[in-house]
Amino acid sequence: MNELLRAIPKVTELYDLPEVSDLREHYAPSSVTEWIRTVLEQLRSAILSGEVTTLPTLEELGDRICRVAARESLPSLRPVINATGVILHTNLGRGCLSDRAADAVYDIARGYSTLEYNVEAGHRGSRHDHVEKLLCRLTGAESAMVVNNNAAAVMLILSTLAQGGEVITSRGELVEIGGSFRVPDIMELCGCHLREVGTTNKTHLSDYERAIGEQTRALLKVHTSNYRIVGFTESLPLSDIVALGCRTGLPVVEDLGSGSLVDLEHYGIHDEPTVQNSIRAGVDVVSFSGDKLLGGPQAGIILGKKPYIDRMKRHPLARAIRVDKMTIAALWATLTTYQDLHRAEQEIPTLAMLAVSGEDLRASAAQLCALLKERGVAAEVVAQSGPVGGGSVPTQLLPTFAVALPADKLSPNQAEQALRCREKPIIGRITEGRLLLDVRTIFPEDMEYIADTAAEVLA
Ligand SMILES: *Cc1c(COP(=O)(O)O)cnc(C)c1O
Repeated sequence: MNELLRAIPKVTELYDLPEVSDLREHYAPSSVTEWIRTVLEQLRSAILSGEVTTLPTLEELGDRICRVAARESLPSLRPVINATGVILHTNLGRGCLSDRAADAVYDIARGYSTLEYNVEAGHRGSRHDHVEKLLCRLTGAESAMVVNNNAAAVMLILSTLAQGGEVITSRGELVEIGGSFRVPDIMELCGCHLREVGTTNKTHLSDYERAIGEQTRALLKVHTSNYRIVGFTESLPLSDIVALGCRTGLPVVEDLGSGSLVDLEHYGIHDEPTVQNSIRAGVDVVSFSGDKLLGGPQAGIILGKKPYIDRMKRHPLARAIRVDKMTIAALWATLTTYQDLHRAEQEIPTLAMLAVSGEDLRASAAQLCALLKERGVAAEVVAQSGPVGGGSVPTQLLPTFAVALPADKLSPNQAEQALRCREKPIIGRITEGRLLLDVRTIFPEDMEYIADTAAEVLA
């Protein structure tokens, strides 16, 4: 063993190999040296563990160095195929932009733009102006602004309207979104005092009324987007809170979470409020995410009465959480599509994946199955149901179709891992001991790649 260890080639020897000349040409010497060290480290531990008893050839080592280089040069953030069926998959980047939105990002990212420039007047403009009109037209709101995400939107709203005072919220709505975003903590961070009213399952008008006092600055309603309280329950409809706000002169704020612009009843999804409904009910300020049910880029959209929105635009926090030009480009393109609902349903992936019919899903699954069979993989179409994801619509499952891969050569766990560890990973899900590829979230242009890869992995 010691002899083997002593015979391991030196870094400099490997550096000069013809097999790594390509690497030498394209990468810094320090990177190439690091990849060589990685390969030598692996070799050394394999010798020490007894796994390796004869040294590989220099040529083989050169190939290993190239493979390590290829692996380490892959971007950490890169595309994957979502075969989980979960449309708003938090770990896989929530939703996907429409082609129109992605093209808009590309155009704006590559050059100078009117981000803060008013071309007619020839002087400074505001980045808030680009999507405000469109947002107002689509939702009926008086005024609008956009920030980095909805968590930031809620912070800006509370900091602007209620710093140093109390905010009244129902005990049934003290949401934790995930990570460390919890309504009570956010209040504290914004310098507001949370005044909880009611109980977990029931909150009445009189609970709000009794809590209002000198220190009250706002009434907050939070959409329990990622959970539901069912059974013996009562919560105050937004319109009643708005009426109370009017009587007492307090602003009514709503954190809508997902913020859909279309009534999801169309797709068989119940009880998910629309943004327009909140505006119609007379809410003073409402906020929601750009990248949940809306299907746009990550953003926090704030709508409401002009005096409130104006104050938020001037708040110092607004500068810290502002959106960049790529987000504005993508959001504008997404919102424009909503002017024609039919088109929105076809072009915006999130909506298209919600709207797709069971028949179309079955046909896609059959197509993938056929592609796999052509390649010798005995797959099977199975009916399934799955969640929308992204902390939306928590109690409803959408009926869907998937392809079950055979488990004769690899176990479902081994196959899942093999598909996941590709350069373009395929993320499936294991249900009842079978590896499933749910077609709801698979793009048609990826079908061939999936079939090729699965056939290769399962061969
Ligand atoms: C998702 C969500 C948020 C956070 O939105 P991000 O855009 O992820 O920052 C805040 N409140 C509610 C109710 C949510 O559902």
